[in-house]
Order: sequence, then structure tokens, then C-alpha cells
Amino acid sequence: MPSINPANQILALQSGSKSGECAALRKELSVKFVQELRLPYAETARQLGVSTSAVNQVFLRLARTVLLILLFMNILSACNGAPPPTITKNSTVMTEKQHPVNPYFSHTDTTSLTLSDAVWKEVLSPAVYEVARHGSTEPAFSGKYWDYEGKGTYSCAACGNRLFRSDAKFASTCGWPSFFETVRPNSVLYRKDSSFGMARTEVVCGRCKAHLGHVFDDGPAPTGKRFCMNSIVLDFEPDKAS
Ligand code: FE
Repeated sequence: MPSINPANQILALQSGSKSGECAALRKELSVKFVQELRLPYAETARQLGVSTSAVNQVFLRLARTVLLILLFMNILSACNGAPPPTITKNSTVMTEKQHPVNPYFSHTDTTSLTLSDAVWKEVLSPAVYEVARHGSTEPAFSGKYWDYEGKGTYSCAACGNRLFRSDAKFASTCGWPSFFETVRPNSVLYRKDSSFGMARTEVVCGRCKAHLGHVFDDGPAPTGKRFCMNSIVLDFEPDKAS
């Protein structure tokens, strides 16, 4: 790239330049735009002067790399005689409850739940508290549900409010669990989010107002929505065997 001036860099990227520096910067910014700002692939592509499929390819390669690293760790653990890390789907680890001391957790009570910050801090694990009450975002591909395929219901990990059925979950390469519809229209509430200079729609729990993630308009039919959620604030309950 001829100059380190940020404005020149943006112009060079948007011009479609295929120089080595531009390609590397485009890849780096694609990851930041999608993972940190959760921009849809199409908007990320528009900002960087590439096609949507090019952005998609970046994340397909990233997902493959993560799986290879997990596989490598699994082999290393096996060689050392230690229990392997959990990478298999439908494992029991996926269904562990995250709310052992939360008396407000309920799958049936849908009345509004308002608690003080001190109480939330007491009844939630630090990781759930940080995302649910402070709006943090877990790193992409790090959560336990992003590629989970179990059949059942996903609820709010803070209060138990039912949010999504596994039938509405779809394979997204974004690194977070993605759904195209909620179980009830009022399962979640929406808030405008203009952080980072972007216009996004935040999704919060309809019962306890916990931050869950964001919703975008690039999901599959029939709704066209992509509810991009944090695994850590979801609690999965498998369907009972019939
Ligand atoms: Fe909730």
C-alpha cells in the first residue's frame, strides 16, 4: 500500500485493489467487522470493496482452521493420556445447566423479571453476568452452541425464558449460534444500538432484559432474519425421547 494514511487505505480497499497489503488488510478487517461489530457479510463486503462470497470464504477458512486446531489438540491430549477436549456434537457437556443457584430461573414464568445489579451478580456466573448484564460479546467460534445440532429448546441462561427452538437454528459461518425465528413474538425485545458508529438492532430477553446478541436481515427463509446470539447466555434443554 503506498501510504499508511487511513483514508488512503480505505480508498485503496474500496477501489478493489488486489495488492498483497490490501488483501491482508481486507481479511483482517472482514474478521473485525463481522466478529466485533457483527456486520452482515453483505455490508462488510460493501465497505471493503469485495463480493459477499469473498467475505464468506474468509469465514469458511477460519472455521476450518478452528476445527483443525481442536482436532490437533484432541490428538495431543490422546497422546498424553489425558481426556480429550470436547469437540463431539451432542455430548453431555453441551447440556450441563448453567444456573445451579439461580432461584429466578423458570421455563414457565413469563412475567417481567426486574432484579438489582447486585442480585444478578450473585445468581449468575461471572461469564453469563458479563454478557447478559453488561452487553459483552463472546469471541466467535468459542461458544458451545455455534455449531451444535442437538434437538431441543434454547432458553435465556439468566432467567429461563424460552427463546428459540432448534428447528429454527441454521448453520451460519459467523461463529455464533444463529436462528431465524423466536418461539414467541415476545420472547425477545429489540433495542436500537448505535455503538461503534453502526446502526444495529440489539436483542434482549423478553422477560429479564438480558443482552442476548443482535438481529440482522440476512437470514434464511421464511423470515429472512438472523438472530446472532451469544452461546453463553443460552441454556439448552434437549427434547425428551418419545
Ligand atoms: Fe432472561
